[in-house]
Order: sequence, then structure tokens, then C-alpha cells
Amino acid sequence: MATRLFKPHKLRHIPDAQWEAMTDDERQTLSLSVQGGFTPKVTVTTTNGQTKVEVPATDPKTQPLTNIRDWTESVDGISGERLRNCINFQLDVRKKDFWVRNMSVAHVRRFAKSLDEETPPGWTPPEENPLILEKTKGDDKIITITRELQSEEERVLIRNRFGITAYTILFLKKKDCPKCKGAGNYKMSSYPGQGRLEKLTETVTCECVFE
Ligand SMILES: [Zn+2]
Repeated sequence: MATRLFKPHKLRHIPDAQWEAMTDDERQTLSLSVQGGFTPKVTVTTTNGQTKVEVPATDPKTQPLTNIRDWTESVDGISGERLRNCINFQLDVRKKDFWVRNMSVAHVRRFAKSLDEETPPGWTPPEENPLILEKTKGDDKIITITRELQSEEERVLIRNRFGITAYTILFLKKKDCPKCKGAGNYKMSSYPGQGRLEKLTETVTCECVFE
């Protein structure tokens, strides 16, 4: 026999009779979703003694929270995103016992304010696949572009921040460019149409680098 689910406190807005009228699946879906910190809007309609329960289609935001690190709920005016960053900061960087030991939905809700105050303003977790790495060696700052550029925004970022240099051209050149064949530069005559001088060439940066 299936275990009977009690109506969670968070679902107190649903009348008992309607709770009783739900199928086990519906009760379970609802109970799971409130555990994740959400109060779903359920519509219950009774027509000719037939009760129909509509649980909203699950979108990713109303999925039950399975990992506290994926926190999305805002509490006391602190955004879900900020709280998520605070949780990850305390778990991975600060590792303060009070937080690490007790990190739970109830704890985060109860101490949201302290969690916010004990995390550096604006802290975000390090990117998993950062585009730029900066290292300081003595007085020098060494910049490494770690991977291929993946978007228009990244191309603009690299050009604006570092300019067009021999190093950035390696990343900005387009592999399928018909003009430079992916080299990022091509040779052209310094004196086009000027007889013997025409064969003197110079290397120019290809247009694709600027695209
Ligand atoms: Zn090109």
C-alpha cells in the first residue's frame, strides 16, 4: 500500500477536500515542488461532483531543488541569484562551519540576511571556462586567452580590451575566411599596377580580424 502523503503546511491554501481528491501522483508532485521552495499555483475545479486538479506544467524554475547550490528563491528582498552566490561562497571559499554544517533550505530562508552580509558584495563563482586568465609576474601582468572565441561579444571584448596585436589576431582570425585562408593576414603589393615595383609586397592584417 502506498504511503499516504500529508498535506504540507505550504499547501495549506488547498482545501482538505481537494487534497483528498487528488491522485497520489498529483499530491507527490505538489509536495516535491514545495520542498524545493516554491508554492505552485494549483487550480482545482469541481464540476458535477468530479474534481479536477491542474498542476502547472513544470518549467525549470519550479523544479524541486535537488542541490542547494542551485538556489533560485529570493528571500527578504535578497535575490535568488545573490543567495545562490552566497551559498556557493560559504561552501567553497569561506567554509565557515555555521554555514557549511547547516546549509539547508530552512537555514537559508531563516538567515538570508546574514548570509548576504557575510559574503563579499558582488561575489560570483569563478567561471568554469574563463576566456581570459591574468597572472602577475613581478611587475608584469601576463594575459592568456585560454580558448577559441565563442561569440560576437567575446570578439568585441578581446578587441576592445587588448587591441589588434600579433597575439589577439591568433584568436580573432576566421578559419573559413576566403581572403586570408585563416591566416589572419595576407600579402599584397605595396605598389599595385606600378610595373617592376608591383612585386614588392607587404603583409596586411585581414579584414576578418575586425569582423
Ligand atoms: Zn581573413
